[in-house]
Amino acid sequence: MRKNLIAANWKMHFDLITALNVARGMVEILDNKIETVVCPPFVYLDRLNEIFNGSSIWLGAQNMHYEDEGAFTGEISPIMLKSVGCKYVILGHSERRHIFSESDSDIHKKVISALKHGLKPIVCVGETLSERRDGRAERVVERQIVAALDGVDLDGVVVAYEPVWAIGTGVPADVETVKEMHGFLRELIEDVPILYGGSVKDRNAFELASIEDVDGFLVGSASLSAQSFKKIIDEFEKAKGVN
Ligand code: PEP
Repeated sequence: MRKNLIAANWKMHFDLITALNVARGMVEILDNKIETVVCPPFVYLDRLNEIFNGSSIWLGAQNMHYEDEGAFTGEISPIMLKSVGCKYVILGHSERRHIFSESDSDIHKKVISALKHGLKPIVCVGETLSERRDGRAERVVERQIVAALDGVDLDGVVVAYEPVWAIGTGVPADVETVKEMHGFLRELIEDVPILYGGSVKDRNAFELASIEDVDGFLVGSASLSAQSFKKIIDEFEKAKGVN
């Protein structure tokens, strides 16, 4: 059976006190059955590891370098992430690809390195609006998937389909688009869990979770509050009949 998973991407939000408060709030109210992951900024990982210890929440990072160690000023290695309790790492998020110019080849190296160190990669793929308008959405996503997972043992890999044009807009991709793209990805990667990301909110979570090939969500802004994150997880579990 395919695994269900909901991950929070806090991006570059919160000061330390706020991050600790939101994390504690999540530990207090989350009692959900499906695997739940929170990916805070790097500097809060160690403190959140203490807070999440013994809870149902797993820790993830938002990025990593592919080398184990060395002269890479400002970078964070998979060994460091493991040592502060990370189980997951988001790789190839569209903001990494588009703002920080990460290439398919960088992401492939990161996937290999994450798995080598026992981290589960959440590999993000998704087309831009102009790529969709040009009729290239499937081609782009296929290229990203094939490049990222080339020669990779898929055990432990999670994929997130995040259409770039739906991220941070408040409006997710419509159900037909999500159905089509997740169905297309399913053909390529079979039993790998496929998350949907892009403006998931409590108001649309049930409808999106009702799509057969949606195995979970990657949630940005709606994961910045424990209450709204919980509502999304509740709606997901309701739609999938998890109890
Ligand atoms: C994201 O950036 O991964 C994301 C899904 O953001 P949002 O939920 O805010 O659209």
